[in-house]
Amino acid sequence: MADNGTDSEDFRRHLIRYGGDTYGSIVEKAQGCYVFDADGRKILDFTSGQMCATVGHNHPNIVAAIRKSCDTALHLFSGMIPRSVVQLATAIAKLVPRPLSKALFVNTGSESNEAAIKMAKLYTGGFEVVGLGGSWHGVTGNAGSVSFASDRKGYGPGMPGTFVLPEPNAYRCPIRHCRDRCDRTCMNVGFELYDMQSTGGRAAVIVEPVISAGGVIVPPEGYFDALQAETRKRGMLLIFDEAQTAFGRLGHWFAASHLHVTPDLLTVSKTLGGGIPLAGVITSDAIEETCHARGFAFYTSHVSDPLPATVGLAVLETIVEEDLLERSRELGDYLAASLQTLQQRHEEIGDVRGMGLLRGIELVKDRETREPYHELGALTTQRCLELGLSMNIRRRPERGSVWRIAPPLTVTREDIDLAMTIFDQALTEMKAVVAPRPGTSGTSTRTPRAVAAPAPRGQSSTL
Ligand code: PMP
Repeated sequence: MADNGTDSEDFRRHLIRYGGDTYGSIVEKAQGCYVFDADGRKILDFTSGQMCATVGHNHPNIVAAIRKSCDTALHLFSGMIPRSVVQLATAIAKLVPRPLSKALFVNTGSESNEAAIKMAKLYTGGFEVVGLGGSWHGVTGNAGSVSFASDRKGYGPGMPGTFVLPEPNAYRCPIRHCRDRCDRTCMNVGFELYDMQSTGGRAAVIVEPVISAGGVIVPPEGYFDALQAETRKRGMLLIFDEAQTAFGRLGHWFAASHLHVTPDLLTVSKTLGGGIPLAGVITSDAIEETCHARGFAFYTSHVSDPLPATVGLAVLETIVEEDLLERSRELGDYLAASLQTLQQRHEEIGDVRGMGLLRGIELVKDRETREPYHELGALTTQRCLELGLSMNIRRRPERGSVWRIAPPLTVTREDIDLAMTIFDQALTEMKAVVAPRPGTSGTSTRTPRAVAAPAPRGQSSTL
């Protein structure tokens, strides 16, 4: 086997770069809340991989489910339905709010949203899809067109009929109307603009219950009831993208059930697969029936595959066995309280927000002007990693520098305490580098070359 040095060189030589920053070393192993690199470094993983390992990396139940699939079936002809797929659909039907009852299983979040949007188009006969600013629904044609959290430049036009509503970000209001309390003017203005542009072929509104990549934005109370009313008024379907929010991340099975808003189509992915590619669309009998009658097709190579469905069942069982919904609420409160304590010590932490074990920390140069502190965010993220904590920072010029913290739901208080100690130390050290007090050695924000320092590795992602 090649040594680590050679592997690291090879990955630079032979891999296509796909966005975000890449961690500099090879990663050998992941277990529970930690990952281990080839240099023997143990790193606390506060992003659950790419937000997927909610039951912890390589949980024994997941490993057992993969083994079981090796003894039964890994993959089948797409027209053959394995028992695990039926069981998973039945288990999910018992958890989702009525009238949702039927599921389709694919692999990625992008695909699940692709399927949901196609169903909405077929059902309504329209093609216009409205999304929220800052949202992320995937990278495929339909899903990528209604994603606004990252650059869309360089690939030509997205889907015709794509529209965006300003997102309800009370900390950084996109229409410069509110401060700290969103009164939903953004939604009303957004729909008015949409109505002006609509050609009448209305299909769907797609939203994340917590706008994650857009900066962990939690819409205000009543937002989704109002959004659903506006959606229905226009004869459109409402799609909830619960890639990140379902199966315990927020402390509930689904954000939909917690919000008491039942969408027409609900998509799930990351948090269902325990680290294995598994995603799904769930809808009502009525919508499924109409789409089927109109020839709905979403026939992929890995639709209804047995391995991911077996793992999905193990994820659901683990959530129940280990009481992870309750744990997410309890440790989420503990994490929020710890972050608020840090906020009192660091002026640069402008806002702490989120729900359950999905939390956002926004960094600002000044709490009054709320000017984003991108340099400090980049350097602190880098320093955290050196000290053994992996956190993801979103840095977009239009919406600030926001860390997104999403540890596995199996995280302990001790893990959280360790993360806070590292974070505190990193922030303190990097503040001294970016804006040193007079008489101390360090670099000033006025010398950008000096603070442009090491490119952050493996932490700043596009999604
Ligand atoms: N929806 C949401 C809310 C997401 O966060 C993501 C991925 N970050 C996706 C969809 C796309 O999922 P995937 O990367 O599995 O295609």
